[in-house]
Amino acid sequence: MSGAAVNDDLLKESLLELYEEAPCGYLFTSPDGTLLRVNQTFLAWTGYTRAELVPSRRFQDLLTVPGRIFYENQYAPLLRMQGFVNEVTFDIVRPGKEPLPVLVNSVQRPDAAGHPVFVASTVFDATARRSYERELLRERREAERLASIVDASGDAILSASADGVVQTWNTGAARLFGYAAAEAVGRALRDVLAVAGDARAWRTIEEELRDGRPVHVETVGVHASGEQIDVSASLTPHLGSLGELSGISSIVRDIRERRALERQQQEFLAMASHELRSPLAAIKGHAQLMRRHARYSEGGVDTIMAQVDHLDRLVNDLLLASQIAAGRLSLRLAAIDLAAEAHTAAAAHVRPDAPPIRVQASAEPNEPAAPVLVLADQLRLRQVLSNLLTNAVKYSPDGGEIVVRVSQGDATATVEVEDQGTGIAPEALPHLFDRFYRVRATAGTAQGFGLGLYITRQLVEAMDGTIAVQSVVGRGSTFTVTLPRAPFPAQLGKTSGTQRAGSDTLGIRRTQ
Ligand code: ADP
Repeated sequence: MSGAAVNDDLLKESLLELYEEAPCGYLFTSPDGTLLRVNQTFLAWTGYTRAELVPSRRFQDLLTVPGRIFYENQYAPLLRMQGFVNEVTFDIVRPGKEPLPVLVNSVQRPDAAGHPVFVASTVFDATARRSYERELLRERREAERLASIVDASGDAILSASADGVVQTWNTGAARLFGYAAAEAVGRALRDVLAVAGDARAWRTIEEELRDGRPVHVETVGVHASGEQIDVSASLTPHLGSLGELSGISSIVRDIRERRALERQQQEFLAMASHELRSPLAAIKGHAQLMRRHARYSEGGVDTIMAQVDHLDRLVNDLLLASQIAAGRLSLRLAAIDLAAEAHTAAAAHVRPDAPPIRVQASAEPNEPAAPVLVLADQLRLRQVLSNLLTNAVKYSPDGGEIVVRVSQGDATATVEVEDQGTGIAPEALPHLFDRFYRVRATAGTAQGFGLGLYITRQLVEAMDGTIAVQSVVGRGSTFTVTLPRAPFPAQLGKTSGTQRAGSDTLGIRRTQ
C-alpha cells in the first residue's frame, strides 16, 4: 500500500533526523577505528566537516596523545575481547578550540560468522561532568586538608550527635583522653567530659546550643586511666535544615598548667602577705614600745633596721622577679674579678651568730687571690653571691663551715658555695630554681618567698652562665655557678659598645 510506503519513508526520515540531531554523537567505525559514519551532533561539537573525517580519519586520531595511547592499549583490545566498552572518558582534539571531554560507549557488531564488521559508539559531552568532577575533587582535597589540620591540632577536637554520642575523635583527643578513635567513637560524651554528665549544667548548655549559640565551659576531663584533667571546652552547635540541633563539635584544651599557675599565684599572694606582714608587725611593735617609753632602745632600733633590711630584700626580690618575667632586666657586662667579689660577699655575710665563711680563691691557702676575670654585670653577680650565701647561712641552723671556692678553666670560671647545713631532699632538687618554689620542710621555719634561687638562676643564665646544685640531706649543699671568663681587655674594648642580642629568650637586654 502506498500509504504504508509513505509512512515508511516518513519513519526513515524521522529516524535519520533523530540520528543526526540526537543530543549525543553517533559514530560508526570499522574495527580498526576508521570513521565510516558520524552524525551531525558530533560534527557540531567537534567543528570538523564530514568530509574531513569520513572515511579518511580514525577515531583514535581525534584524541589527545594520552587518550590515543589508552585507546590502542586498553580500549580497542577490551572491545575486541568482550564486544563492548562502556563509560570511558576521552578528550577529542578540536580545530581552534579546547579539547572536548567526552564519555564514550562502544559496541562491536559481528557478522553471522562472528567476525567484527563495525563498531557503533555513542559519544556524550562530558564538559559538565568534568567540571563537576573537578569541583568534587577540589572539595575532597579541601576536606582532606581540613581533616589533616584537625588531626595535627594539639587540641582535642571531637564531634558528637545531638544526644551526646561521640562521632569523630582526632589524634589530640586520643592524646588528651587516652582513648584511640576506635574506642572513643560511640562512647557517651559524659564518659569523657564531666559537664556532660551533670544533668542540670548540661540542660543549660543544651538550651544555648539549641538556640544556635556556642558555649565555652571549664570542666573536668576524664582520662581512660580515670585521672581527672582540668580542661576548657568550646562547644559549637550544628543545626539541621529545620533549625534543630543535629550535632555538637568541641575543641577541648588541657588547662592543667594554667590551673597550677593560678594556684601557685594564689599561694604566693597568701605567702607574700604573710611574709611582708611579720617584719612590719615587728617594726610596729618596737616603734610603739619606743613611743610608749618615750625613749630609743638600742636593741629596738637594731631590730627595726634588721626588719627593714629584710623587707627591703623581699621587695627587691619581688621587683627583680617581675622585671625578669616582663623581660625588662638590663645587664651591663664588664670584666669583673670573681675572686674579689667572693671575698667581699663573704665578708658581708659574716655574723657572730652565723657559721664562719672561708673563701678559697687561690691554689695555695695563704697566697693572695689572683684576679679571676669573668664577663658579668657586677651588681647582678653580687646579688647571685649574696643569694647563695644568705641561703647557706639560713639553712645551716647548727653551724658548720661555709666555703666559697673560686677556680678557673680555659673559657669559664667557677664559684662554689658549699655549706654543711640541712641539705635538700632529692625530690626537691629538680624544682629548686622554679619560681615560688620552697621546700615544704623548711617553709615553716626559714623566711623567704621562694624567689631567691629562681632569680639567681635567671641572672646567671642572662650572663651566659650556668648554675647547678649537689646536696645530701643532713650533710649539706654545694651550689656551683659557672660564668664565661672575660676576654682580654683589648678584646673587650673591641666589642664594647655593641649591643649584644637585643633580647634573648628571657627578654633580658644586654649592654656591654
Ligand atoms: P627562699 O626564699 O625560700 O629561701 P630560695 O629560692 O632561695 O627561696 O630557695 C628555695 C628553697 O630551696 C628554700 O625554700 C630551701 O628549702 C631550699 N634551699 C635553698 N638553698 C638551700 C641551702 N643552701 N640548703 C638547704 N636548702 C636550701
